[in-house]
Amino acid sequence: MAYQLPPLPYDYAALEPFIDAETMHLHHDKHHQAYVNNVNAALASHPDLAAKSVDDLLRDLNAVPEDIRTTVRNNGGGHSNHSAFWLLMGKPGSPGIGGEPSGAIAKQISADFGDFEAFKKTFNETTAKQFGSGWGWLVFTGGKLKVITTANQDSPLSHGLYPVLGNDVWEHAYYLKYQNRRPDYLAAWWNVVNWAEANKRFEKAKA
Ligand code: MN
Repeated sequence: MAYQLPPLPYDYAALEPFIDAETMHLHHDKHHQAYVNNVNAALASHPDLAAKSVDDLLRDLNAVPEDIRTTVRNNGGGHSNHSAFWLLMGKPGSPGIGGEPSGAIAKQISADFGDFEAFKKTFNETTAKQFGSGWGWLVFTGGKLKVITTANQDSPLSHGLYPVLGNDVWEHAYYLKYQNRRPDYLAAWWNVVNWAEANKRFEKAKA
């Protein structure tokens, strides 16, 4: 079956005032939908590949025929990245959303970055510097958490890394509300981070 756009797990306005409802409508209904449509179109004549999960395709892009590889990398990447991104956020003020992390990921952040404030600073500064469109990620590699960025819709999965946390810094993610102020968006985003989901992903990253 072709890939499907997953519904948002909350209302479009749920992330207000940090991420506005209009941005969420465009970002989910238009941008994410386009990635889904484009990757499905590319895979239409490759039922063997379409039967795999999009994450498995991204883990082994060399197995994707060259004529559709870039389309799968960009649009399959867009589908995978955004599917994780929606789940990694939630309504500010709800349990486990925003504020300081708890659980295993909190301990690992303290061990690897010193404390939560130092981690946020590293994540924000590294991601602010990503030139052009891309993503900031927290990955677990060599027994440590590490902040990396990728360009465009490239997935950490294609580098053998499982994303624990990720923030979208394409202008479509923030321009309506923050215009060119990417650092302001990055700073505000921590108010909507879903630490319960990040802890779940941390367990998978360690497996
Ligand atoms: Mn996006």
